[in-house]
Order: sequence, then structure tokens, then C-alpha cells
Amino acid sequence: MNNKGLLIVLSGPSGAGKGTVVKALQKRQPGVRLSVSATTRSPREGEQPGKHYFFLTKEEFQQQIDQGQMLEYAEYCGNYYGTPAKPIEQWRKEGHDVLLEIEIQGGGQIKEKQPDSVGIFLLPPSWKELESRLHGRGTEDETTICKRLETARKELAGVCGYDYAVVNENVEETVRTIGAIIAAEKQRFSRIKETCDLLKGC
Ligand code: 5GP
Repeated sequence: MNNKGLLIVLSGPSGAGKGTVVKALQKRQPGVRLSVSATTRSPREGEQPGKHYFFLTKEEFQQQIDQGQMLEYAEYCGNYYGTPAKPIEQWRKEGHDVLLEIEIQGGGQIKEKQPDSVGIFLLPPSWKELESRLHGRGTEDETTICKRLETARKELAGVCGYDYAVVNENVEETVRTIGAIIAAEKQRFSRIKETCDLLKGC
């Protein structure tokens, strides 16, 4: 049996609650490996290199692109973000499901390269709620918040390229829903067919 792990892409506008959902998901589904991205943005307070992000200079980031080390990358609000390719393939080969928490340009690149990936788009309950979450977070200045709100409008339009849309009203429920999506995706006929002797020739 070839049990290649799932590649799960979680996207959604800044303020949809992706960070909180990912943390809760890691507790509920400890087998799912979380990809650590590279970025050219500066670390926020409490962020550790190698744990939250690999913090790179623009030159270092460009070098990794040139060497084909990024599975996808994108510019977001003036900074570059990208997924290092190597660990993803390794983990999936070992049978681990892998979660990428990335924005929509990168999500589109992944779907194009790996159509069997599972795209989940996280939505805030309302636009008003999104605004209040971004203001309440207190980690960004007003200019950055405005930039992120403008980006969020564009990002919301990108939901159509995803396989699932989950409204994040309540973290527990959202995490349960994502768990159910993962379980269902593992039973998708096209995947099972590849790994189950009984279905050879179907
Ligand atoms: P933040 O600066 O708030 O940590 O992240 C900003 C945005 O970049 C978020 O929407 C986050 O999902 C996205 N992001 C984080 N890592 C990656 C990555 O590796 N690739 C892409 N395309 N987006 C990423």
C-alpha cells in the first residue's frame, strides 16, 4: 500500500483566524505536519526563526527561488513568502499529511502543480467581524491594517479556486469540520484506487 500523505492548503484573508485554527488543528490532529514558510518580512514579537518562519533577506529568498527550492512563492503586502519544497515531498512520501497555511496566489500555484492537493478557504463570519479582528489584534499599525483589508477584499474573490469554504465562527467547530474534510478526502475514490489491491482495474 502506498499511503502518500495529503497536501492540504489553508488560505483565507488576514483576520479570518487561520493562525488560531492551525494551532487548534495541530492539537486535534498531531499527525498533520505544518510546513514552515520562508519570508522576507521582519519577525514579530515572539516569533522564532525556524519555528514560525525562516526569516530571509531578499537576496537569500531570490537565491532559493533560483535554485528551485520553493514549491510556491508570492509577494504579499510588500514581502515575499514561500514554501520550501524539500520537507513537503519527504513528509508526504513518509505518509504524513502536510498543511500549508499560505495566501491565495501560492494556493493557486499549488493547485496547478498538484491537482490532488486539498484547498480549504477559511472565511470570517462577516466583513465587519474581519475589520474588528484586524484592529483588535494590535500587532500592526494602521497603514498595515488598511493594506491587509484591501488585500482581504481581493483574497475573498479567490475563494472559487478552492475545494472547500469554511466559515470560522467558532474555532472548535471549524477544526472539527477541517478534520472531517481530511477524513473524507482520504476516502476519495481516486486516492483509494491507487492504494487498494481490491480496486485494481476499476
Ligand atoms: P503573516 O505576515 O501574517 O505571517 O502572513 C501574511 C500572509 O502570508 C498570510 O496570508 C499567510 O497565509 C501567507 N503566507 C505565509 N507563508 C506563506 C508561504 O509560504 N507562501 C505564501 N504564498 N503565502 C504565505
